[in-house]
Amino acid sequence: MHWSKLFIPTLRETPAEAEVVSHQLLLRAGYIRQLSAGLYNYLFLAQRSLLKITKIVREEMDAIGAQEMLLPMLNPAELWQESGRWEIMGDDMFRLKDRFKRDFCLGMTHEEGMTAIARGEVRSYKQLPQMWYQIQTKFRDEPRPKSGLLRLRQFIMKDSYSFDIDAAGLDVSYEKHYQAYCRIFDRCGLKYTTADAHSGAMGGTQSHEFMVASDAGEDTVVRCSCGYAANLEKATSLAAAPRQPDPEGEPTPEEFHTPGRKTIAEVAAFTGLPETSQMKSLVLVADGKPVLAMLRGDHQLSETKFASGLSVKEIRPAHPEEIREWFGAEPGSLGPVGVKKLRVIADQALQGRKNMIAGANRDDHHLRNVTPGRDFQPEYFDLRQVVAGDTCVKCGGKLELIKAMEVGHIFKLGYRYSQSMGLRVLNEAGEEVTVIMGSYGIGVERILSAAIELFHDKDGMALPVTIAPFQVVVTPVNNSDASLRKAAEDIYGACLSAGLDALLDDRDERPGVKFKDADLIGIPYRITVGKKLPQGLVEVVERRNKQTMDVKLEEAAAYVKQRV
Ligand SMILES: [Zn+2]
Repeated sequence: MHWSKLFIPTLRETPAEAEVVSHQLLLRAGYIRQLSAGLYNYLFLAQRSLLKITKIVREEMDAIGAQEMLLPMLNPAELWQESGRWEIMGDDMFRLKDRFKRDFCLGMTHEEGMTAIARGEVRSYKQLPQMWYQIQTKFRDEPRPKSGLLRLRQFIMKDSYSFDIDAAGLDVSYEKHYQAYCRIFDRCGLKYTTADAHSGAMGGTQSHEFMVASDAGEDTVVRCSCGYAANLEKATSLAAAPRQPDPEGEPTPEEFHTPGRKTIAEVAAFTGLPETSQMKSLVLVADGKPVLAMLRGDHQLSETKFASGLSVKEIRPAHPEEIREWFGAEPGSLGPVGVKKLRVIADQALQGRKNMIAGANRDDHHLRNVTPGRDFQPEYFDLRQVVAGDTCVKCGGKLELIKAMEVGHIFKLGYRYSQSMGLRVLNEAGEEVTVIMGSYGIGVERILSAAIELFHDKDGMALPVTIAPFQVVVTPVNNSDASLRKAAEDIYGACLSAGLDALLDDRDERPGVKFKDADLIGIPYRITVGKKLPQGLVEVVERRNKQTMDVKLEEAAAYVKQRV
């Protein structure tokens, strides 16, 4: 392709609206233009790159025996009502009506659609397992679309679904996807971590996220040098030791006056005791029932762990008037001693502690010498969010927290959809059994954004050669010089013959402008045809490390071919 004929609208300045690097560079390099919040036009370069990514995804999905399909993005409401997600998805789902005033939605994923196909046609264990996938446009009515292609309202996903006769079969389908995902992200040149993940609103039992470490990411991954990695929502740890040992002896709880001291920090300053010597009291309403959750003063509640530990769906903080009614005191003076009407639970970090500070259930008063198991009888759960420096449960090492973005996610759905939608087959014994499912997603634009976040410098993108829009650009420093132009065209032809995805920069621009543009759009190799041509030499520049190499004119294409 000849650059002079292409539409590559690069920008000199960084657009003010773009905060994260991938967004800035995608705009500056002329890959994308915004249409509306969370909606982007993918111009020539972005589309080329996305097509390369989807080709890799397709090859690896085909390689594990998954079959490609294409389901409508426009779905009738009845389909989603069957699974219950018509209600659950709330405002996140785009909804519309047809001319007959019937309800429709734009698909966010396709569990319902795929399950409905299987339900109609798959009758016997002999037809299982099945793995079906599609590469298709999805919609999500994000309240705050942002960060360019990281949080969109319309995006491209590879989504696949597995159907198995039993849990052992699902294990196999899941593992195949896990391995395929590793190959996909490896081939796309990403550095990633696989994190144990809670499956959240999707339901199910086991799940892994494929995460790329990046400050632009909105997830937090807890990881350890031993290989342990988990989403912050799911991660477990051993809490760091309290900053001060608990007082010895068995004194009984004793009330003391704490005028105006409501927060953990205020009580710590008032008593001179560290936050780790205090208990935090949180009053929640879980599926309509009040619960008092106790945590160490410096710890934060993980609502995900709370919900999964107690097997509850809906959680909200209690209202002040409810708290007044149940405790006879205001928040800031609440504690577990003497609480009879509420279920009392405690984080495991409080197990074995003694003589701590807690609220007295009387305004402006606290208790000292409160011992869990003696002064109140909690049920223990893992309730807290891991913090950096906690101890790894696997190896005893120190845990770190990193910001990350999700590029892929695999779930064991279990019977969530097959049960609610009635997907049953006959097993070997001729009995009707419910099919077990998995669902597996990859964000196609996420891969491109993640690659840019990982590989860029002050001059622009330095994309992996497998997903860059072109592998090599041939640049005559002066296009009006006939000999330079002729040599560049020869090399460009040789690149094409060698099977390279090549671009010829035949623009009548100064060399500096051409180099800048090539660096900005992130083409991995540049062959510069310039002043060494009389000696039969051209320069090959590797974008990522800016290393240059003089290569014989006739060998330039082969040299680059060998490197990619
Ligand atoms: Zn570890």
